[in-house]
Amino acid sequence: MVQFQNVTKKFTTNITALEDINLEVENGEFVFLVGPSGAGKSTLLRLLAREYLPTTGKILVDDKDITKLNSNELPFYRRKIGFVFQNFKLLDDRTVLENVALPLHVRGTNDTEVAKEVERTLKLFDIWDRRYLFPKQLSGGEAQRTAIARAIIGKPEILLADEPTGDLDPETAWSVLQLLVEINSWGTTVLMATHNKEIVDLQKRRVITLKKGKIIKDIKEGGYTTH
Ligand code: ADP
Repeated sequence: MVQFQNVTKKFTTNITALEDINLEVENGEFVFLVGPSGAGKSTLLRLLAREYLPTTGKILVDDKDITKLNSNELPFYRRKIGFVFQNFKLLDDRTVLENVALPLHVRGTNDTEVAKEVERTLKLFDIWDRRYLFPKQLSGGEAQRTAIARAIIGKPEILLADEPTGDLDPETAWSVLQLLVEINSWGTTVLMATHNKEIVDLQKRRVITLKKGKIIKDIKEGGYTTH
């Protein structure tokens, strides 16, 4: 379970990205974060990924305060987290296969196991026949499927997605969303920041609306515009 307790994040004295956030997300939930640009959605995800520390407050993941993790503990915590971005953030000089294999190589998984897991994941995501291509040779949908494959190959407990459909046409955006829903159905908690009203309205999942750094709505089976 994820808990934000009175979390405030100030970047400078004048910029308060999040203010006194209190939030609980159960294991296995699928949560949309919506709200205008600058509302604090990315900051919330990045705090959870421990890319930033909050200015004040606690962030508990499985009852452990991640703001207190030391440098030895941090890499292990990060294995619990997968992160997907709008602009994919793939390594341009590595193939699809190498990009997806990277997180397993980094953690020292043996080559046979890496090969097996990568093949299984690329086939599952329908990009096996693209495995020797470089990111610039892929369509937007293929690039995002590669990025999601890389994010989940290490079996994270929590998948964070920051505008993952932002650069995609509606049909491709929908197929990427279906992939995230499927990953969620395996038990992975998914938090997705998005501006995509149609997707949010059709999914009937929990919708948290942020505005100027505060949660202004939290609706169990909401839509983008539900009041
Ligand atoms: P959203 O994802 O909802 O668009 P962000 O979390 O990116 O919102 O931004 C929230 C606020 O924090 C904005 O005012 C933004 O300019 C500011 N902000 C975000 N990241 C930084 C940063 N690294 N340094 C300074 N200000 C930042």
